[in-house]
Amino acid sequence: MSARTGYDVIVVGGGPAGVSAAKAAAREGVSALLLEKYPTIMANKPCGEAVSKETLATAEVKPSPRIVMHEAYALVYSPSMIEVEIPQIGYNINKSLFIQEIAAQAAEYGADIHVREEVTSVARENNHLLVRTARGVYVAKVLIGADGYNSTVARGLGVAERPEPIPTVQYIMANCRLKHPDAVRFYLGNRIAPGGYAWIFPRSERLAEVGIGVRGGVAKEYLDRFVSLFSDELGNAKILDYRGAPVPIGGVISETVFDGAMLVGDAAGHVIPLTGAGIHSSVAAGLAAGKVAAKAVLEEDTSKQRLSEFYKLYDGWLTRIRKSLKAMRALEKLSDEDLDTLAHVLKADDILDLANGLDVARVAKKLLAHPILAMKLARSLL
Ligand SMILES: Cc1cc2nc3c(=O)[nH]c(=O)nc-3n(C[C@H](O)[C@H](O)[C@H](O)COP(=O)(O)OP(=O)(O)OC[C@H]3O[C@@H](n4cnc5c(N)ncnc54)[C@H](O)[C@@H]3O)c2cc1C
Repeated sequence: MSARTGYDVIVVGGGPAGVSAAKAAAREGVSALLLEKYPTIMANKPCGEAVSKETLATAEVKPSPRIVMHEAYALVYSPSMIEVEIPQIGYNINKSLFIQEIAAQAAEYGADIHVREEVTSVARENNHLLVRTARGVYVAKVLIGADGYNSTVARGLGVAERPEPIPTVQYIMANCRLKHPDAVRFYLGNRIAPGGYAWIFPRSERLAEVGIGVRGGVAKEYLDRFVSLFSDELGNAKILDYRGAPVPIGGVISETVFDGAMLVGDAAGHVIPLTGAGIHSSVAAGLAAGKVAAKAVLEEDTSKQRLSEFYKLYDGWLTRIRKSLKAMRALEKLSDEDLDTLAHVLKADDILDLANGLDVARVAKKLLAHPILAMKLARSLL
């Protein structure tokens, strides 16, 4: 590589946000480079891999059997194991193949993709950003930081703020005897998972992702305790994979658009707080950022003001993230007894609206009619 290689748009990080950003930028006809530090574009971080059907539509990825490992409805459990069924079908995907499919689209639109090339620093020079890797220095007209929670790009841009994280750990377990092989299960409660939840997401009848997110405790200890509650299903299971990572659940950080640069995905806090789901919102953020970046380059105006069109394109998601955060803040104050009461009152649609930051006001109005939940929950949701 020459001392400095220029690109219109450089995207750092080959996760769901980064591959989507590279694809969207290249589709607009500008030169785009995707840099990924690991040797493979794939799900390099642990993930439950559960998504809505709409996620694949947003990503323009066909729900082929190669990518959709399993279709599942959902079961949500209160601390006393009151079960609420959510019949809507979602997907457990092979996230690596999903990301690779989007990366392939990016390549077909002309994006360059470099794996095993970690960005070590980012600096400003005049109107451009210099992106330094072990192989050399690149110059970007617009730089998109899609490099996850510990974003090097954010640091290089002088962003000290980080989205509030919840530590998570997850096992992939084999030889399970799942009672509900066609359901993703969520378990709530301060005894089970304070400030978060535990999950069992089947990949097949015998293989499952079993994980937990916990605030104010050691996630691994809570996970082992959770697994031991299911000796009939998980007693003979063997752990094939044990990894953890922080999930940014505190909402979007104050500034994600700068002169010549944007942050997207986990790096920006583009995660639905109550569920910790970030695949769909990251893909959407990447697509919006890549498109805006390319248009800005073509118009020769990569100022912060021009790139702020991102906020307009992503507004629906920003609203959902805000509403889901509000619901999370209200729910985290509830005792286990209150959560049990809630499980008697909420129906599937209510849970979906609350968790996904959709019609939270409708659920709040419904809860206003309840003698206890009106005071404890409804008012803070409104
Ligand atoms: C245990 C766990 C379970 C989860 N389960 C789900 C789920 O079931 N459904 C859901 O929707 N979401 C889930 N999430 C959240 C989801 O995984 C993330 O929100 C999503 O992957 C964020 O995408 P991203 O592209 O922003 O970041 P990431 O997926 O973190 O990708 C960032 C990429 O940047 C690369 N990178 C980092 N630094 C550099 C650098 N300096 N130079 C070059 N490359 C770099 C990384 O290697 C990585 O490939 C889960 C998260 C965890 C931790």
